[in-house]
Amino acid sequence: MSNKVHLGHTARKRFGQNFLTDSNIINRIVSAIAPDNDHIMVEIGPGLAALTEPAAESIDRLIVIELDRDLVERLQRHPMLKDKLEIHQGDALQFDFKQLLRDGKKLKVFGNLPYNISTPLMFHLFSFAEHISNMHFMLQKEVVLRLSAAPGSKAYGRLTVMAQYYCQVVPVLEVPPESFTPPPKVDSAVVRLVPYEQRPWPCQDIKLLESITATAFNMRRKTLRNNLKQLLSDEDFSSLGIDAGLRPEQISVSQYVAMANYLYNKRI
Ligand code: SAM
Repeated sequence: MSNKVHLGHTARKRFGQNFLTDSNIINRIVSAIAPDNDHIMVEIGPGLAALTEPAAESIDRLIVIELDRDLVERLQRHPMLKDKLEIHQGDALQFDFKQLLRDGKKLKVFGNLPYNISTPLMFHLFSFAEHISNMHFMLQKEVVLRLSAAPGSKAYGRLTVMAQYYCQVVPVLEVPPESFTPPPKVDSAVVRLVPYEQRPWPCQDIKLLESITATAFNMRRKTLRNNLKQLLSDEDFSSLGIDAGLRPEQISVSQYVAMANYLYNKRI
């Protein structure tokens, strides 16, 4: 059976469309999200409403952001959802999530994300972290492993450091390709990201943390001394108590923040 016959819509690869069709997995994801009226509930990429329908069931209003105009039209006509949905047609990567804030409520954001934009989308969302209560995302399993990696592991990288700076990261469940139509070529997993109310390692200048991690992980096989030589000297490393001979994946989130704060204080 073609996707079109099965779904009534031809999946568009350029929009990362792999639709969830496994009701057991859908129920488990919606239970993890636990939609409620005390938060502003936001779904990215509702598609054919596999998560949207069960998520909207127990709440008054659900905001959705969808890029594909055909899918937006379908959602506008959806008999059960049309009174509950606030639909924004557009690119979630460009979306100002702050515009959704009202009544002092925080956002809960979820979605089975288009895998081609999931990393930049998470970076975009981190910039709204203080307004978000939690996020649940279906991602490539490999990305979930990166988000939740510990220092010293192969998966530990820039995304890990930035995600764990902003959020507590909890892998929720693994999802096989057969749970989607069409099936993606990779394994998937759902992750919960809970932004810290009080960050354990506050950073004085987030741009500095972003540039240090980007530079440090630019060449993973090189030492910190080599990668960061434009920014920090051996003397700086010894004031920080960090061994400059280590590789970037051996450095903890708190140590990256310490480097950013050290540079910030040195520059002002
Ligand atoms: N939520 C549906 C499901 O679970 O079956 C669809 C998930 S599908 C993996 C990704 C969805 O995100 C598609 O509906 C796609 O059109 C939409 N999408 C792709 N790029 C987007 C973007 N930049 N902003 C918002 N939505 C996007």
